[in-house]
Amino acid sequence: VKIASIRGIPIHVNASWLAVYALITWTLAVGYFPRVLPALAPAAYWITGLVAAALLFVSVLLHELSHSFVATAHGLHVRGITLHVFGGVSQLEDEPPGPRAEFLIAVVGPLTSFAIAAVLWMVGVWGRVAGPSVTATLEYLIGVNVAVGVFNLVPGFPLDGGRILRAALWKWKGARGPATWIASRVGVGFAVVLMAAGALRILTGGALDGLWLIFIGLFLRSAADASYTQSALREALGRLPVRQVMSPRVVTVSPGATVADLVDTFWAHHVSSFPVVDDGGPVRGIASLQKVHQVPREAWPTTRIRDVMRPLGDDLVVGPEASAFDALQKAAANGLGRLAVLDAGRLVGYLSLKDLTHVLALEGLGPAGARSEPLRAARALRRAA
Ligand SMILES: [Zn+2]
Repeated sequence: VKIASIRGIPIHVNASWLAVYALITWTLAVGYFPRVLPALAPAAYWITGLVAAALLFVSVLLHELSHSFVATAHGLHVRGITLHVFGGVSQLEDEPPGPRAEFLIAVVGPLTSFAIAAVLWMVGVWGRVAGPSVTATLEYLIGVNVAVGVFNLVPGFPLDGGRILRAALWKWKGARGPATWIASRVGVGFAVVLMAAGALRILTGGALDGLWLIFIGLFLRSAADASYTQSALREALGRLPVRQVMSPRVVTVSPGATVADLVDTFWAHHVSSFPVVDDGGPVRGIASLQKVHQVPREAWPTTRIRDVMRPLGDDLVVGPEASAFDALQKAAANGLGRLAVLDAGRLVGYLSLKDLTHVLALEGLGPAGARSEPLRAARALRRAA
């Protein structure tokens, strides 16, 4: 859900965040505040809890905004900021241009969290005059901001510390790909340590803390894998135009043909979808095997393809000069894994996730010998497809 836009950067809140907001408010209202502020009315605990949780939300947002502003200053486009269960994430359209930019974009986040803590600490002097609930809220926020800063400095990609590590390795090795691989493996290692610590905590009687550690570990592990894949795919496919990876010879079906004809065509070509094209005319949609399953067998000879095809929308189309990486993201998101390649409205090719996997596998066998980078990306992509 989009909640705001700051300097042209859209701010989104994941649905999970609302649950977390409620959970944090609850733990503050029944746990933290009654402990540090005895003898208040229950309503006062809940109000203080709501305010403190909202300010925590603002702290995380400021941390992410600092990343986004520095990224923008380095010429990167920020697609948006999303706040979710474990904090926030700034979506950058592209990788930083060099290790120096990477370092600055990463380091500003923890610095911002520490700066917020420092400012709140100074405000705390005034807070003591305002009353004990203000002081307790400030102390909570100082603690949380320091924790956010410290946690993010852990050198595992995609945490900020992992990005700093990647920047250092990038500078040292002169290449981003291997640096990303090493930093993401450190991220996975840290995630495993967190999960082991969580298991240990459960065994020693701290079930809730232990579960949290395990959840954070699981989240970090998949984030490390996903960001590595993302980065490797961008590296391998970013500069490649769709024209070079699409299949130029496309088998098409006519919208007036029947589903029975369609099934014959599937058998003849061993592929699971076809663009639907009027004779020499425009592309109408894509007919897929998935849709045929929804038509009872006895209706196959009488049902027309145009009634079961997926009508052509923006999410099924790509241009021949678009980047293969953008096409990959589009194909992965449209639920079909296929894109019709249109040039000035004319069908010039067809692109599948499988084509992209082949390209990556071939690139891995390139002249430099076994280039592990595209191969790892290909493996990850095959899993995703
Ligand atoms: Zn950060």
